Amino acid sequence: MRKVTIFGATGSIGQSTIDLIRRSPGTYDVVALTGGRNIARLAEDAIALKADLAVTAHEELLQPLREALQGSGVEAAAGQGALLEAATRPADWIMSAIVGAAGLAPGLKALEQGTTLALANKESLVCAGKLLLATAKQHGARLLPVDSEHSAVFQGLVGEDMDAVERIIITASGGAFRDWPIGDLPNATLAQASSHPNWDMGQRITIDSASMFNKALEVIETREYFQVEPDQIEVLVHPESMVHALVGFRDGALMAHLGAPDMRHAIGYALHWPERRDLPVARLDLTQVGQLNFRTPDAARYPALHQAYAVMERGGLMGAAFNAAKERALDHFISGHIRFTDMAEVTAKVLDRIEAQSGLIDSAMTLDNVSKIDHLSRQAADVAVAEDKR
Ligand code: NAD
Ligand code: MG
Repeated sequence: MRKVTIFGATGSIGQSTIDLIRRSPGTYDVVALTGGRNIARLAEDAIALKADLAVTAHEELLQPLREALQGSGVEAAAGQGALLEAATRPADWIMSAIVGAAGLAPGLKALEQGTTLALANKESLVCAGKLLLATAKQHGARLLPVDSEHSAVFQGLVGEDMDAVERIIITASGGAFRDWPIGDLPNATLAQASSHPNWDMGQRITIDSASMFNKALEVIETREYFQVEPDQIEVLVHPESMVHALVGFRDGALMAHLGAPDMRHAIGYALHWPERRDLPVARLDLTQVGQLNFRTPDAARYPALHQAYAVMERGGLMGAAFNAAKERALDHFISGHIRFTDMAEVTAKVLDRIEAQSGLIDSAMTLDNVSKIDHLSRQAADVAVAEDKR
């Protein structure tokens, strides 16, 4: 039996992962499931999958988790220390599907046991790509992409030489507001931003799709994972979300990856890699689809994209600053403190402020320094929001 652990098991990616595991009874031995505040979901899945351990990220929820698991034989634990401990428990395959920079420390811990880490948590690559790759290398661990675009690129590169790659094109649906008049964007509500035209995902990544902060993170994720230069990465708006990515080779060939918008494809590919197995995803009928559309992203509509390129050009720990500023700006949008279009203004201000604090961005990429930049950038985002309100 293959030992598996799922970080962020109660979220959208976590639940899709559990769906795949449930479809192959007797194949997987579930070591640990982790979640946040949804104790009922966490306990129910841990019991159904006969996990050894269930962990909530919140210490104050240990007692409710214990009660929900009573008599099941599943061990309960809570808090940051418990998350890290779960990452040290031997597993052959670990899903990293916590949302945000909070996924970085458990991901690094998991890599230290030399396992295969399926990485949905793109934020950890954005914040600390070099550190993640170096840790994997040092411990003989493997990182597999789970983001649909990056899984598509990864699949397009099977048997290819990276020297033959000219460019990587990732697609973007354009999100909830792709056809809105730009002038209406400042008034976009939380409910409107939280509904995606093609994908069913967690709330934060759905809003990030509308603002293209998600694509901005994915551009940086592409650079870090595939080690290509910023000018080799392109973004195409593709409203149908059926072509997930394309790899352009030096002989002019363009290899596209197509599939229905269902994350269980990318998760399943990482789960069964290097094999391909049957997956419960819809098959595309191109005669039904009829037409696929592509266009260049409008820079005025999606300022976050331009910021991603500036972040890559700057290098160092700027990715950690960008991600933290984005996370905090998103918190403020969700809380109703700022407008939809203010988010990119907040991140721009934070990047300027952090850059001005001499030397910070060029300090060594350690977990401590990344956490420090993360903390300072969140503070700077709060300051930017407060100034804006005055
Ligand atoms: P989600 O909000 O649905 O789930 C997030 C999970 O992380 C939950 O289990 C939650 O309890 C846990 N969590 C949240 N904050 C935490 C913290 N501080 N510490 C520990 N655990 C915490 O998110 P999602 O949509 O499943 O996304 C998960 C990750 O996968 C993100 O990095 C996202 O960018 C990436 N991703 C998601 C999709 C998708 O289709 N949903 C696609 C590509 C990539
Ligand atoms: Mg994606």
